[in-house]
Amino acid sequence: MGDLLVVGSVALDSVQTPFGKVREVLGGSATYFAYAASFFTKVRLIAAVGEDFPQEHVRLLRERGVDVTGLQAGAGRTFRWVGEYGYDLNEATTLDTQLNVFADFRPVLGGAARRVPYLFLANIDPDLQLDVLRQMAERPQLVALDTMNFWIEGKRAALRRVLGQVDVITINDREARQLAGEANLVKAARAIRAMGPTTVVVKRGEYGAMMFADGGFFIVPAYPLESVYDPTGAGDTFAGGFMGYLASEERLDESVFRRAVVYGSVMASFTVEDFSLNRLTSLGPADIADRYAAFHDLIRLGASA
Ligand code: AMP
Repeated sequence: MGDLLVVGSVALDSVQTPFGKVREVLGGSATYFAYAASFFTKVRLIAAVGEDFPQEHVRLLRERGVDVTGLQAGAGRTFRWVGEYGYDLNEATTLDTQLNVFADFRPVLGGAARRVPYLFLANIDPDLQLDVLRQMAERPQLVALDTMNFWIEGKRAALRRVLGQVDVITINDREARQLAGEANLVKAARAIRAMGPTTVVVKRGEYGAMMFADGGFFIVPAYPLESVYDPTGAGDTFAGGFMGYLASEERLDESVFRRAVVYGSVMASFTVEDFSLNRLTSLGPADIADRYAAFHDLIRLGASA
């Protein structure tokens, strides 16, 4: 049990889906991750924002108990992402990525952050992910990583270096295929495991998530929701629920990892119900427990005949 550190993006997102449109709302891989994980454990966040970043967003994270002392505010503009979804909400089209302050950001880890037992390298430049790993005073008990097509295409060598040093990767199905150069997901997961991580969690949007590890496969469906408005952040929220739950447990074994995949799916199912973090910010522990029970029902087989 212990502290969870995340390094990733904190962003202003502009998103259009068939159900609406928002401009420069709170987003970013580290933001969704930290907010979701904060329901399970103590979270520290390392990221950069510009002078234009609204203070109310920092307050929101602080109110959830997220340690934001590693949120470095610098001269310049906050990271911006512009994306769009068609009726197939599983596929985001990136219209624009402006790194802004992340272009020359160097994460600086304080003493306590260098000693956390759980580290999540959220979707961000793999060179920054490597930089954080290098600063750790001791190897964390568990290191996980996420990434996306932008970095697989633009920074493959650095990504391969960091992949060689992590225990877990969470990645969406298209990007798993792209990273492995393999169309079949089972073969792609095996190829990715050969790159370093012993556990590969493939996120499949409305089709759920699959975990590949030494013990074999584990598969969880997505919760069948009637109101899905914006899938942005679902992957990072999944990772937040997954890692947050792992960090809250005394011991990590296969059944804890399986429950973590369910908690990841529970948290992601809330994020997609509204734009930005709007649904997450009205969430309470009882909502999480109720949906966990609903998931349990969803995959229950009942007594055998
Ligand atoms: P997802 O959970 O995969 O939907 O991630 C969505 C979040 O990732 C958005 O809030 C974006 O701000 C952020 N994002 C998009 N592109 C990048 C990128 N190249 N690097 C880091 N974060 C990104």
